[in-house]
Amino acid sequence: LFLQPKFNAASHRLVGAEALLRWRHPERGLVPPMQFIPALEDTGMVIEVGAWVRREGLRIWKEWQAAGHDGLRVAVNVSARELRHSDFVAQCAGLLEPHLGEHGLDIEITESMLMDDISKSVSVLQELRALGCRIGIDDFGTGYSSLNYLSRLPADTLKIDQSFTSAIALSADTLSLVTNIIGLAHSLGLSVVAEGVEKEEQAKLLRLLRCDELQGYHLGRPMPVADFRKQFLD
Ligand code: C2E
Ligand code: MG
Ligand code: MG
Repeated sequence: LFLQPKFNAASHRLVGAEALLRWRHPERGLVPPMQFIPALEDTGMVIEVGAWVRREGLRIWKEWQAAGHDGLRVAVNVSARELRHSDFVAQCAGLLEPHLGEHGLDIEITESMLMDDISKSVSVLQELRALGCRIGIDDFGTGYSSLNYLSRLPADTLKIDQSFTSAIALSADTLSLVTNIIGLAHSLGLSVVAEGVEKEEQAKLLRLLRCDELQGYHLGRPMPVADFRKQFLD
């Protein structure tokens, strides 16, 4: 697992990290998730790997906690196949129930995935929240959420997709879209994270628009867990 930092936009403080899977291949080097997660999904191995990701995420959080870094959170990604799996909620409950009311493990799920089966998604998300996870809607703006449905989703955070962030300083239409996504999210009681912040001018605009958190290469790349500790926690 690699970790990428997330920062509070206004205070510039570290708020936590997103855990991103990497495969260390003997010849191909570090393989990005888009190149192997589809295979994990097709073979069903994603169930086992996903459970490992959550265990690791919780372990990392516990280590930080033990080192006195209170309040930091770790978010992990969950795929469609996992979300629909009959044991998913039970597995999460087994992991998190011993830490109820105190752990900092959050879940990110892409918007398009949630829309596939709305009522199932809503009930699973409700159960995850009852286990103390905050729910982030990933890649927001690339799926086709109905606004009616968005207001009923048990979620805490919208993650504005990279494609918007990268165009925010270049296109008046994108700037207007992002302004309104942030306003909409806040009026529904959701916080907003911008993904893919690569430039200071993007960060500046997002702060002016009252985006809550920033994540991207400009603030920190995904890196091994030990490097993350050295760079941000020591
Ligand atoms: P995501 O959850 O939307 O993660 C953000 C992706 O954007 C990551 O790609 C990250 O490395 C990349 N990124 C971050 N900042 C920047 C930036 O400033 N510029 C650009 N161009 N890219 C940036 P990565 O690590 O290749 O992951 C791709 C996707 O794979 C993730 O998208 C997520 O959907 C999925 N994924 C990653 N880890 C896991 C996992 O453990 N389980 C599951 N089911 N999916 C995962
Ligand atoms: Mg994510
Ligand atoms: Mg994303």
